[in-house]
Amino acid sequence: MSLKDILIARIQQNGPLTVADYMTECLLHPKHGYYTNRDPLGSRGDFTTAPEISQMFGELIGLCIAQCWVDQGRPAQICLAELGPGRGTLMADILRATRQVPGFHDAAEIFLLEASPTLREIQRETLRDYSPKWSSSISDLPALPLFLIANEFFDALPIRQFLRDGDGWRERLVGSDGKSLNFGLGTRAAQTLLKDRLTDTNDGDLVECCAAAVPIISSAAERIATCGGMALIVDYGDWRALGDTFQALRDHKHSDPLEEPGKADLTAHVDFEAIARSAQSAGCSFSRLTPQGVYLERLGITARAQSLASSLQGQALEAHILAHRRLTHPNEMGNLFKVLGIYPPSAAPPPGLEP
Ligand code: SAH
Repeated sequence: MSLKDILIARIQQNGPLTVADYMTECLLHPKHGYYTNRDPLGSRGDFTTAPEISQMFGELIGLCIAQCWVDQGRPAQICLAELGPGRGTLMADILRATRQVPGFHDAAEIFLLEASPTLREIQRETLRDYSPKWSSSISDLPALPLFLIANEFFDALPIRQFLRDGDGWRERLVGSDGKSLNFGLGTRAAQTLLKDRLTDTNDGDLVECCAAAVPIISSAAERIATCGGMALIVDYGDWRALGDTFQALRDHKHSDPLEEPGKADLTAHVDFEAIARSAQSAGCSFSRLTPQGVYLERLGITARAQSLASSLQGQALEAHILAHRRLTHPNEMGNLFKVLGIYPPSAAPPPGLEP
């Protein structure tokens, strides 16, 4: 039985699903989930990510994290953790680039939070020289300063969608006619979750919320506020979510998110304001939301790109130049992707970011 048939049967029995429930089933169903049993990344997968495009991304992030560690007085033991590490490429680049930072590797215990058994196996292989540990939640990590990175993790968390109707909201739901899946709307209701959004939206506007992000950010920020450390959140999205950004990607192309559940990657843009406010409520400061291109330029990506280019030629050099452009150019990932830094109120923001 396909996931589509399973979901249609469930909807017929129990009624329509929220978009969040639908996303969770599609991405993480134990048998048919998109992430459960495949490696979706790279040119042969469905999408690619910054660390898979160029080693420079992880190298610069590594140096940014190590600089924060130095600035916070080189704590002797820290957790260096990553949310949704994919193939482990970003963490491997971070660790390679920080080998030269005296004492950093000795201090860092490496933790990965990963839902997919397939990707956990790939991470084990990529990071075999560093003996990482896997954890299912941030609150389970040892009570040490937390240096946390998440690239394209929050966009994979389930969102709910609400359509403004007068001074109430109708939730967008996934229903079925028995053959296919389709979108519908629930009945109009007040939503305490969205009470601040009545002032900046109009009738007919669609708003998304990602409840799953809040406990993750709150526990990370609590740890950072009490023990020290910092978090870097890199993703596509904006300060405040408005409009439908729920999308499916298959074979590097957009597809219909209801067409083949479990076979396409499903994502939504990240509402960085919600993340920043959760971090603030837990006692942390947050940086200005900064375009990825600006952040990487401030960290010196051009100098690093030139130094790598000097040992390359032909196709490898062409690919390297394109990768640099792809990460930084405003028409590519440079503007769409943003970086948010979360840090203790007593510390300066991470290099490349402003308060
Ligand atoms: N950060 C990597 C991979 C991004 S893809 C990179 O930049 O290349 C999203 C990652 O988040 C995958 O590793 C996926 O399996 C993981 N993931 C998605 N939902 C998750 C969840 N609820 N808990 C833990 N990991 C999750």
